[in-house]
Amino acid sequence: MTHTNARLRAALAAATEDQLVYDLAGIEGQYASLQRELPGVSVRFAMKACPVDEVLAALAEQGAGFDAASPSEIEQAIATGVPVERIHYGNTIKSDRNIAAAYRLGIRDFATDSLPDVTAIAAHAPGARVFCRLATSGAGALWGLSRKFGCSAEDAVLVLEAARAAGLTPSGLSVHVGSQQMTAEAWRDTFDQLADVLVELGRRGLRLNHVNLGGGLPALGYLDRRGLPLDPPLEKIFTAIREGMQRLEAVAGPGLGFLIEPGRYLVADHGAIRAHVYRLSAREQLSGERQHWLYLSCGKFNGLYEMDQLQYRLVFPSHAGADTEYVPAVVAGPTCDSDDAYAHEDNLMPVPRAAESGDPVWILSCGAYATSYMTEGFNGFSPVPYTLIPGEGPDR
Ligand SMILES: *Cc1c(COP(=O)(O)O)cnc(C)c1O
Repeated sequence: MTHTNARLRAALAAATEDQLVYDLAGIEGQYASLQRELPGVSVRFAMKACPVDEVLAALAEQGAGFDAASPSEIEQAIATGVPVERIHYGNTIKSDRNIAAAYRLGIRDFATDSLPDVTAIAAHAPGARVFCRLATSGAGALWGLSRKFGCSAEDAVLVLEAARAAGLTPSGLSVHVGSQQMTAEAWRDTFDQLADVLVELGRRGLRLNHVNLGGGLPALGYLDRRGLPLDPPLEKIFTAIREGMQRLEAVAGPGLGFLIEPGRYLVADHGAIRAHVYRLSAREQLSGERQHWLYLSCGKFNGLYEMDQLQYRLVFPSHAGADTEYVPAVVAGPTCDSDDAYAHEDNLMPVPRAAESGDPVWILSCGAYATSYMTEGFNGFSPVPYTLIPGEGPDR
């Protein structure tokens, strides 16, 4: 069972009710391997990927800080006990009131990408440090994030100069290569952009102290929309990042620090849902074709929101024998919404022909963006409750 360890499998096997299991030891191990890959880079976990108190506390104990996107996330981050200097306000979108609330909570580092936002930060968080987000193309990512955030290289220079003029400290640049970025080229292109802007800023006497590499590091265990393993080239990606950082250090001179804001990379493969089969049925479609449909207790609105771009590996533990007969089926969640189906109905997954109502199903690699995207009760289907496999605590 690729990318899902024995500990997590044992917890799924022991579960008798639907639940989302997070493996804290696995998340801690993932954090440690990120530190080995990118030594010296400070981690700011993107909270929206897993806003679960115990997960946040485990990461804080390992030394992570947080990328928060609202005053409520900032409060949740502070509650882990992490020093407030390790939390930044990474959302370029914020109201005057949000900025003032964050400042009162002790936040001094703010992302920005526009002049009106800089003016607001200067008014409501006087003297704060700002880092400017550059837009990236998002090419090569499952979710590009390319239009809503970030500005051009030219505007970044104007934004940081305006920050300086307004009494703020222009402190960094940030990017996001797109979520579940599948290519090393996207990282190389992004480092090209960063290098160009650093050179231009240097020419204008603006020396920044950090570059924030954002999110986008991929999870390993997903299937694509056709049901094939995504298999991101993780080693190539890390190599591109290490080379890119060296290049930026050469451009900017000594003293440039790096942050990274992984979300799904730290948690996706260390969470899994124990769900159950509602029904395996076969219906003649309007096309005249007879098609099997597997309906599960869990779907787009209670844990599997990202099924727009990917599919999750399924395990049917009560049909694990070598002689199991499979039928190709569309996999779908329980609601009366036609989007609540894997890959929008154009793909079939192998499903045990004998699957029956109540059979357990394990849905792997859904530790990221599961809790944050659950509805309160679409069609009366409640959020799936979570349970935790304990971690090892502080890494000493
Ligand atoms: C969501 C987000 C991240 C995390 O993205 P992943 O693709 O999950 O790694 C990082 N930084 C910012 C600003 C984000 O909005």
